[in-house]
Amino acid sequence: MNTPLPNSLRQGPDNRGRFGSFGGRFVAETLMPLILEVEKAYEAARRDAAFQDEWRRLLTHYVGRPSPLWYAQRLTEHLRKSAPAGMGAKVYFKREELNHTGAHKINAVLGQILLAKKMGKTRIIAETGAGQHGVATATACALMDLPCVVYMGATDVERQQPNVFRMKLLGAEVRPVTSGAATLKDAMNEGLRDWVANVHDTYYCIGTVAGPAPYPQMVRDFQSVIGIETREQILAAEGRLPDALVCAVGGGSSAMGLFHPFLDDKEVAMWGVEAAGRGLDTHEHAASINRGRPGVLHGNKTYLLQDGDGQITEAHSISAGLDYPGIGPEHAWLHEIGRVTYVGIDDQEALNAFQICSRLEGIIPALESAHGLAQVLKLAPTMARDRIIVLNLSGRGDKDIFTVAKHLGEKI
Ligand SMILES: *Cc1c(COP(=O)(O)O)cnc(C)c1O
Repeated sequence: MNTPLPNSLRQGPDNRGRFGSFGGRFVAETLMPLILEVEKAYEAARRDAAFQDEWRRLLTHYVGRPSPLWYAQRLTEHLRKSAPAGMGAKVYFKREELNHTGAHKINAVLGQILLAKKMGKTRIIAETGAGQHGVATATACALMDLPCVVYMGATDVERQQPNVFRMKLLGAEVRPVTSGAATLKDAMNEGLRDWVANVHDTYYCIGTVAGPAPYPQMVRDFQSVIGIETREQILAAEGRLPDALVCAVGGGSSAMGLFHPFLDDKEVAMWGVEAAGRGLDTHEHAASINRGRPGVLHGNKTYLLQDGDGQITEAHSISAGLDYPGIGPEHAWLHEIGRVTYVGIDDQEALNAFQICSRLEGIIPALESAHGLAQVLKLAPTMARDRIIVLNLSGRGDKDIFTVAKHLGEKI
């Protein structure tokens, strides 16, 4: 890339919704007015004190923010035992798993549903893969008395019965999608189709930092509450900024939320952890940056898993929340300029980290978060004892116990 970097890495996107050459608004003409309407409403909401106050009130009293920053002392000491002398960084967890609904997704969902109400929309649609975003959206819609339709690939509906039932309990309608591979990518296509057909009353609530502009920026801004709190909490605990931030990356909303407030702090290293599934050298992974190529999907340009003909391929991970064949465009840019390092962690490494976290910290992490933790297990022993790592523990693992039991050969 020959374009000079801006003075701040936190200014993007530009007015075309681009982060470097990524992002943008690659949508059908019929969708363009809706996208611009959302953008205008979001710009107004950002500066509207009443809107911000209402979002804050929900985060405090409904979600339970701020989430704690936990010094994982037993894990730290465990890693120091096998590290070279003087090595073994101090590990902190940003505990997003304690949020209502058990993950970070609710932060951005509440912001978006408030925006939808402000725009006068009376119907909410969403896509979901593992069902976590569907559950968060159904939750917010129950709270705010809005009808909610969730598109979900038929394959995922089969695989994720508990979340399908949760959404129903919360009053949402789950519509199985049978096109394509009947997974998340197809559910998102169907969501966009519904939106075009029902412009007048419908808001599309997107679950990660993907989609056409302004979604990647808007979802990032809402999730930045994670990094803003982390900054205050680590300054209070240690009197300085962390040396490294680590987070698993599906679409990348929890990672952008943690990273963004620190992007201009050059001394803070950042690691985005992609799901390497059965291995980066197999075809069964979800490592869009490590093994994908730039292309256009769901309204933005970014790194995508594709075959030789440019067809989007299926992603695989033991963690349903990471198997998206793309990644948010801001991550694609942060990769290209070298600000964030993207690595792969495979199924087995994640399973191992899942068990270590449960035993040593009494916290059963989401399999997504276990990918981030597996990277911490590699990183901490290479850093001196006075160094500090913060892991975004994006969600809790209750939803994953059946998957883990199966892999451990146990019946529950
Ligand atoms: C959905 C999910 C993720 C992946 O989504 P991002 O947008 O990359 O954050 C990670 N962790 C948990 C617990 C999730 O539910």
